[in-house]
Amino acid sequence: MNNEEVHNDEEEFRDQISTVNSDGSRKWVYPKKPFGKYFTKRKIVSYVLLIILFGAPHLYINGQQSLLFNILDRKFAILGKVFWPQDFYLFAIAMIIGVVFIILFTIIFGRIFCGWICPQTIFMEMVFRRIEYWVEGDWTHQKKLNDGPWNGEKIRKKVFKHFIFWVISFLIANTFLAYIISSEELWEIQTSPINEHLGGFIAIIFFTFAFYFVFTLLREQVCTTICPYGRLQSVLLDENSLVVAYDHKRGEGRSKFKKNEDRAANGKGDCIDCNQCGNVCPTGIDIRHGTQLECVNCTACIDACDHMMDNVGLDRGLIGFLSEKGITQGTKFQWTRRVISYSILLASMLVVLTILLVTRTDFEATILRQRGSTYQMTNDGRVSNIFEINLTNKTHKDYKIKLKLDHSDAEIDVAVKKLILKSEDRLKERFVMKLPIEKIENGKQEVTVIVYGNGKEIQRVTTKFIGPNI
Ligand code: SF4
Ligand code: SF4
Repeated sequence: MNNEEVHNDEEEFRDQISTVNSDGSRKWVYPKKPFGKYFTKRKIVSYVLLIILFGAPHLYINGQQSLLFNILDRKFAILGKVFWPQDFYLFAIAMIIGVVFIILFTIIFGRIFCGWICPQTIFMEMVFRRIEYWVEGDWTHQKKLNDGPWNGEKIRKKVFKHFIFWVISFLIANTFLAYIISSEELWEIQTSPINEHLGGFIAIIFFTFAFYFVFTLLREQVCTTICPYGRLQSVLLDENSLVVAYDHKRGEGRSKFKKNEDRAANGKGDCIDCNQCGNVCPTGIDIRHGTQLECVNCTACIDACDHMMDNVGLDRGLIGFLSEKGITQGTKFQWTRRVISYSILLASMLVVLTILLVTRTDFEATILRQRGSTYQMTNDGRVSNIFEINLTNKTHKDYKIKLKLDHSDAEIDVAVKKLILKSEDRLKERFVMKLPIEKIENGKQEVTVIVYGNGKEIQRVTTKFIGPNI
């Protein structure tokens, strides 16, 4: 085999997706049950995150759902603080920060988010897959069961497993909706007759089916072919990124283990070609081919390989969190120009966001002349303008609102002098303001409206009054 043929052979795995057969059919992945140091850590992280995920919509801070993303009413709440469409700029900045953070994180640590934090992996590997192991046994038993005939045992196991999958999908669907429409609204749907909340009922069923489909059939395809973040890896990673990688320098010259053999003396590497790293991989790849798009950095292969290294008396870490430069040149993490630039950008944006959050007001008041309206002359010789006031209360208290004017000659109609602004609510009211004609210079006059809430001044809004230019 010449060099080119060797290279082509090495790169052949890139020609097809690991979970698709050459005839285009799906290659079902049966990963071996993982265990080990990293798996234990992942379990702890996953269960803490699952408690937060299921608990947050039912936790109320200052009477407000701790996490709410109500896109329909354009109302968001984070740790009891309510955000309205007026705060959209904060969300925009937070989202940009999120993107920069992901870029920076990926440059340094690769796709570790996927294996350790992403809900898709956590539900798949820590909930659904573990139930599957419990009901159907480890990978070989699962394969045997699937390949075997539909006998009593198979029917019993499949029905039981899918029933549990369905129940969990139902729970996830309800939790998902609690984040979108609030847990109170969801409770209302759950406890009312179906015909009173038909839309809500359909949404619950639809999302239950969607999650059931994702975790029962779609599975690793979400990470390997659908999720756009996986695709970004190829442009974000560089030779300094720490990813789950195989130390090819140490491992190559792979060959089966032989007792009492001096592998180094025989020119052999440390990889004993046991394929345990591939057996545990939930995306069906062989990490020894190098960094691949399908790898979600779940670390199952690290545990599997460490276990084999222990068994044959070799050092752990043949697969580990390694960078390509670390493997080939032995270098440690380096602050490259790219990492420094993104770090500075991220820190600056975090400072800006913090300042904006700290200086964010609990009230928003805007007063504008009604669109398309002009001035009018009253019978007593004064000029009147129609205004529209928009008030937003981001607090958890109701407020009695009073409007006063700083201009002694100006007057507003009585109706808007007293308004009730409910907690976390918005109010839109139209009112008429009048001014003596002689107080208007060059056709306009600035007037400041002082907004009082429960007797305290909460905001001053300056607006423009128009009149005849005389
Ligand atoms: S290669 Fe290793 S880290 Fe990557 S997905 Fe497979 S088992 Fe997980
Ligand atoms: S588990 Fe380790 S020793 Fe076994 S094939 Fe994979 S890299 Fe080689």
